Amino acid sequence: MTTETPVLVRSPAADLPVLHQIVLPTPWDIGPVQIYVVEGDPLTLIDTGVRRDNARAALEAAFEELGLELAQIRRVVLTHYHTDHMGQVATLRDAGADFELLVHQDDADDVEQFSVEREERIEESNRLFAEHGVPIDLLARQAGRIRREVAGNPPLALAARVDRRLRDGERLPFKDFELEVLHAPGHTAGHIVLAERRSGVLLTGDHLMGNAVPFTESFDLSERPDAADPVGRRPRFRGLPSYLASLRRLRAGGFRCILPAHGGILDRPARVIDEAMLFYEVRVQRVERIAARIAAERGDASAWEIWQQLFPKLDPDTQMRTRMVMVIGALDVLEDQGRVTPHRRADGTLAFRPLADASPTRT
Ligand SMILES: [Zn+2]
Repeated sequence: MTTETPVLVRSPAADLPVLHQIVLPTPWDIGPVQIYVVEGDPLTLIDTGVRRDNARAALEAAFEELGLELAQIRRVVLTHYHTDHMGQVATLRDAGADFELLVHQDDADDVEQFSVEREERIEESNRLFAEHGVPIDLLARQAGRIRREVAGNPPLALAARVDRRLRDGERLPFKDFELEVLHAPGHTAGHIVLAERRSGVLLTGDHLMGNAVPFTESFDLSERPDAADPVGRRPRFRGLPSYLASLRRLRAGGFRCILPAHGGILDRPARVIDEAMLFYEVRVQRVERIAARIAAERGDASAWEIWQQLFPKLDPDTQMRTRMVMVIGALDVLEDQGRVTPHRRADGTLAFRPLADASPTRT
């Protein structure tokens, strides 16, 4: 065991004394998840932790320290649908709390129809990966392994009814201040961050963290090809371009303090945002360089071919998925910038050609 982290951090933002951070255990390497309680009217919880006994005990202990009970919660806001954020919603309702659950409209279905299967998006991501050249037998092996894992473990969250589907710009009022909902898609399609403009406090969920840069999602929005797409792709949520656009928007917001879901309390928001942008900028550049190298030999490059050269030491059986989404996201960014163009090979695989003048010099 590592050293015990404090369960409750009172008023991490001095200008917002009624807001407290609660640190809850998770079963993962990333460490605990940080959720927030606003001790105001209505008593509001922002994110909830995973559905595990130790997380519930930690939440109860923090509430006790504040002189509160879980049953007094009247509003729960989720930054996004992942299990360490929505996991205790059902637990709290079972404990007798009568609250409204607020989730962005683009993540609300994922909360209401939550299942680990759905969270993994196995079928649709396999369809996407296959189209980008990943071998079918590898995808089948991974799907089998994920399903066995799902079946072997109690779920970290249960589906929950959403009472209000949030949109960008909505306000959540308290007695003396309000939290503004800002849609920050990328890590999930319906991820939100919450801004308190007077104090410059930004609650960022997993959008910005102190100890990691988030993976972004990429999934089909429809099974039918987009008639306007020259290579007949299905319309898709494109997480990485969305993520970078939402970072640019927050960069201009002049915030003074970030309260994230992982990695402490961050007092230099601009720097945190710049680091996340740089992280992906470097990866996009690497993808472009490798795509150019492959294309110089065979005319074009598929995302899977790029993956194999980008991560020669990784085991595709266990480490393909999130990084494949990253490669596809980088190709999305490059395509938006006019640096690569997609086409279909004779077998239907999507491949990309770097534009001649954008090819990096080979050294
Ligand atoms: Zn997440």
